[in-house]
Amino acid sequence: MPRDYYEILEVGRDGDEAQIKKAFRKLARELHPDVNAHDPEAEGKFKEAAEAYEVLSDAERRRTYDAYGHEGLKTGGYSPHFEDFGSIGDLFSAFFGAGGFDAAFGQGRQPRGGAMQGGDVAVAAAIELVDAAHGKRVEVSYDATVLCDTCRGNGAEPGTPIVACPTCHGSGQTQRVARTRFGQLVRSTVCDVCGGDGRIARDPCETCRGGGMVAERRRVEIEVPAGIADGQRIRVAGRGHAGERGGPNGDLYVVVQIRADERFLRDGNDLVTVIDVAAPLAALGTTVDVPTLDGPVPVEIKAGTQPGETLTLGGRGMPPLRRGRTGDLRVVVNVTIPRRLNHEQREMLERFAASLTAENDRQDEGMIAKLRRVLAG
Ligand SMILES: [Zn+2]
Ligand SMILES: [Zn+2]
Repeated sequence: MPRDYYEILEVGRDGDEAQIKKAFRKLARELHPDVNAHDPEAEGKFKEAAEAYEVLSDAERRRTYDAYGHEGLKTGGYSPHFEDFGSIGDLFSAFFGAGGFDAAFGQGRQPRGGAMQGGDVAVAAAIELVDAAHGKRVEVSYDATVLCDTCRGNGAEPGTPIVACPTCHGSGQTQRVARTRFGQLVRSTVCDVCGGDGRIARDPCETCRGGGMVAERRRVEIEVPAGIADGQRIRVAGRGHAGERGGPNGDLYVVVQIRADERFLRDGNDLVTVIDVAAPLAALGTTVDVPTLDGPVPVEIKAGTQPGETLTLGGRGMPPLRRGRTGDLRVVVNVTIPRRLNHEQREMLERFAASLTAENDRQDEGMIAKLRRVLAG
């Protein structure tokens, strides 16, 4: 004996088109395979609801059914067209088209009770400058909400029904009477027991306390690309909080923080470093080891190198993130003046000082250029 279509959809015999549609959508949402995979009866219930909807949403079929019942439809040649589908997933797609659930209940169309995208998660990852130069695989861990495994997200203890919300009697709204200076006002608000769904789990799932979601510690490995800048974000689609009622997951954003490297300052793709060269060596010329991202590199300091002079090591900076050229390493020479001279050094330096002539001074810059250089340093 087939069940009464109005009873299946839980609408009155005088329910209008909109009410029938709303009732079917509500049922379909509960029976969606993503939400209700554990319930072996979901498929049968969905078929039943779909058949009821197919009949009651068609004015002619509904008149026939109202007058002659199931028998009347059969003699009228009606038979549901979706008997041959295998899984409830297939059936669902057949009824709601490709994209199934999302297309039928997508965001925006149904602000409450419909599919909702999960929230985004932001997590920081600190790396060294060297890693930013070469690129690195980094593992981040964070908490994200996921669909509860016990109830598959519908909030009900397995094997227990979802029932009309006793607080709002299934309407999803509650009325509150407020006394004001102008008399009584009735205000409708979203029911805070069922959140506007109109239906709640009779026995809330013990794992998630009926919320349908639980927090889970998650680890994700990401590839930080070479050339990334401090504070840049990497988006990992779909690894944020789980969507609700079949909605898509949110995204994960990894905010890359580059730890300060005391050897280098970053200037775009260029790096700047400072090396100390003792005054006599700067005068005589020498070779010093300059730190680079790939280890120390010997660099020639020409005889007569002046304080603040800059040497450029081409291509020793940061690589470009997308296109462009690799930056340079600028090496600023800090000429140091020897201190705490011993007796012998002092004597040598005194003799050396006495030997200086105007020829030994820097000839290539005037007073203004000197001031500029010193003040800029
Ligand atoms: Zn649960
Ligand atoms: Zn309610």
